[in-house]
Amino acid sequence: MNGVDVDLVIVGGGLAGLSLASRLAAQNFDGSVLLVEPRLEYTDDRSWCLFTPEQSPWAVAATRRWQRWRIAARADAGLELSAAGWCYAYLRSSAVYAAALAKIAEAPRIQLLRGHRVDSIRALDPGVEVSSSAGTVRARWAVDTRPPSIQRIAQATLRQSFAGREMVPSGSFVDDGVVELMTDMHADAHGFVFTYVLPLSPERAMVEATRFSTTTLDPSVLEADLDAVLEARGWASAQVLRRESATLPMGLPVGDRVKASPAVVRAGIGAGALRAASGYGFARIQAWADRCAQALARGAAPCGHPREPRLQAWMDTTFLRVLAAEPERTPAFFTALARALPGTVFARFMADAARPTDLARIVAALPPAPFLRALMHSRPRPSAAVTM
Ligand SMILES: Cc1cc2nc3c(=O)[nH]c(=O)nc-3n(C[C@H](O)[C@H](O)[C@H](O)COP(=O)(O)OP(=O)(O)OC[C@H]3O[C@@H](n4cnc5c(N)ncnc54)[C@H](O)[C@@H]3O)c2cc1C
Repeated sequence: MNGVDVDLVIVGGGLAGLSLASRLAAQNFDGSVLLVEPRLEYTDDRSWCLFTPEQSPWAVAATRRWQRWRIAARADAGLELSAAGWCYAYLRSSAVYAAALAKIAEAPRIQLLRGHRVDSIRALDPGVEVSSSAGTVRARWAVDTRPPSIQRIAQATLRQSFAGREMVPSGSFVDDGVVELMTDMHADAHGFVFTYVLPLSPERAMVEATRFSTTTLDPSVLEADLDAVLEARGWASAQVLRRESATLPMGLPVGDRVKASPAVVRAGIGAGALRAASGYGFARIQAWADRCAQALARGAAPCGHPREPRLQAWMDTTFLRVLAAEPERTPAFFTALARALPGTVFARFMADAARPTDLARIVAALPPAPFLRALMHSRPRPSAAVTM
């Protein structure tokens, strides 16, 4: 296309933007790419965990993997699950960023512009105009990976908020073979609460206090939760190595299907990449980056984050509505799932790889009344749309 400055602008160099750009670099994409990212430095700002087959590239690249995970109302009790051929993998974000940045640095036609923020994306005919604090560029396509605003997150069915600290407690620590996926589960005035512990080694762990709530919580609530967890476990004086926190949307409405321009697609969390029922998004964003890079390699336009499969979207929405309506029963729902489901079924469900029989087992494991109530107020709807 004539009159463009670059072929592709990627707006946002977080997980989605870097994943796409590093794939384009790896496959020697012959177009020019501009990646615009406000941050100047990449830090170890998050822990990426996922259920994944043991032989998957992400399991192989993981900083740590576990074969067992616990779901419990108390930390020292409850159910331990495991799944042959599956693991729960942890990737340090600093390692993921470094690998992607190194790949991008090898590609002369991909420019990462740090310290700049995109203000507007305007559809042209054809193409797109992207304005940032560095100026305005015309491109054939734009992939917009900007995160949702706080106001949009507030429209989600639930928010998942957490505060975590990676720490080295003095004295003996945890069993480093078992992840505490959801322990200390209970509910209070703010909604459902649980503890999440990644035992990175016998001496070091990431400990997080997590809540599912229908309102946006002040970070001090989560910090107080975390202090209480650490106090109860005798870890209050642990050396803190780093902190992470977030409020993630669960069941984010992604708007109507009207597409403003074929030249602009959306990806990442803002395009509904997080699984509504779990808040996991890492693997989904990787799968999208694979598809998008393949499309560009064929000379086709980039693709946005795909629609949610209709049945899964409906089930997740119903599940979330029940959790939102009945936080006090949420520990019992998760305990029932852990008790009834074989580890493999649980892992497949969490990894978006559930089979129809798995879905049937999940439905059968849950008490029918609250779900029937939620179903009476819902019906299958078109799945999550991805629009500008
Ligand atoms: C602390 C934390 C822990 C998480 N843990 C997990 C986990 O264990 N497993 C899992 O599956 N998922 C997890 N997630 C969810 C999800 O995987 C991550 O949020 C992931 O980073 C989402 O990728 P993204 O590209 O959509 O957003 P981001 O990685 O946040 O990238 C968006 C980028 O857009 C940039 N940006 C913002 N405004 C502009 C602008 N105006 N112009 C240009 N760029 C802009 C931002 O600086 C950022 O780099 C976690 C999220 C957080 C925050």
